[in-house]
Amino acid sequence: MESVGRLQAPCHDARVAAVALEDVEKVYADGTVGVRRLSLEVGDGEVVALVGPSGCGKSTTLRMIAGLEAPSAGRVLLGERDVTRVAPRDRDVAMVFQDYALYPHMTVRKNLAFALGLRGAARAEIVARTQRWSRALGLEGVLDKRPGALSGGQRQRVALARALVREPACFLFDEPLSNLDAKLRAEARGEIRALLRSLGRAAVWVTHDQEEAMTMGDRLVVMHGGAVEQVGPPLEVYRRPATRFVASLVGTPPMGFVEGTVHLGALDVGAGTLPLGALPAAREGQRLCAGIRPDALVPADAGLATEVIATEPLGAHTDVRLRVGTTYLLMRMDSDAASGLAPGRRLSVRASALHLFDEDGRRLPGAP
Ligand code: ADP
Repeated sequence: MESVGRLQAPCHDARVAAVALEDVEKVYADGTVGVRRLSLEVGDGEVVALVGPSGCGKSTTLRMIAGLEAPSAGRVLLGERDVTRVAPRDRDVAMVFQDYALYPHMTVRKNLAFALGLRGAARAEIVARTQRWSRALGLEGVLDKRPGALSGGQRQRVALARALVREPACFLFDEPLSNLDAKLRAEARGEIRALLRSLGRAAVWVTHDQEEAMTMGDRLVVMHGGAVEQVGPPLEVYRRPATRFVASLVGTPPMGFVEGTVHLGALDVGAGTLPLGALPAAREGQRLCAGIRPDALVPADAGLATEVIATEPLGAHTDVRLRVGTTYLLMRMDSDAASGLAPGRRLSVRASALHLFDEDGRRLPGAP
């Protein structure tokens, strides 16, 4: 994980991915499958966000790139170099964890300079990088303080800066912001994102928070049970989730689902019907699951019969919780429109805004 090579002569061939995982697998000694056959490339200047629930294999993937875990099969490449069997300290990567310790007896400036000094960086380079990253993370005012005199948020930003200041070919982040409060977290994300862009280095960002993944990643890699469920730019994944699992994970508030049977070109869900539009892949009598985003529900005469359970005014918009037959849906609407919503009003979704999944949870071919 040292950055000696980076401090000397960085030279990247634009056609070679900065990080490549080739059919990588990890089976732990107790037989637990951490990651199954995963292939992934991260380009220079690209941030890839690995997202999924706890236990889906995100950290294992990251740790294999860092060299902290050896793959059971497959190869890890950094640039053109096969590093599958290379020790962490000999890979040009920096990993940033949630809980990293600072040297308590050193000032912030010394904490930042220490890792660089150890690797024989020139003094001018140490000063330049310390300045760059302390400015980026809002630490200029505390450079001469010791960690004990800082707030929790500041300490976490110093720890981040200490890993980032090394500027390796690849940055690996494992939920690094989870100890920060929401406001600081949003600010730190923006700062780090902009710096990673300007540096043009590859980064892999692990989080269970889909909103963080959407804001940090040029591409999302949605993982589930050790396998990749979908890869794509955040909005593409949001607009066309490949599976019901991805659909339920990506988007705030989350998508709701109702199940039904295809009948005469519509989906009969018991509490009413939803239009299917021109869907050659749907057979009469087929069971389908319809995914509905909270902002896609609109009043319609021939729609679903709904019962309002709760109305939650949130400012500009209002969330309305609805019971539809035996399931629940959320409708998000303008607060002005919500006050005019008559009780018992039927609701529907345009066919083009409906997400349809088959019984195996796969997006229906031809669904919009
Ligand atoms: P995530 O980062 O997505 O929460 P992990 O990569 O940590 O998931 O874990 C993936 C799977 O591998 C989980 O089932 C986890 O329990 C298992 N696992 C992780 N580390 C070990 C280990 N050292 N030994 C055995 N199983 C492990």
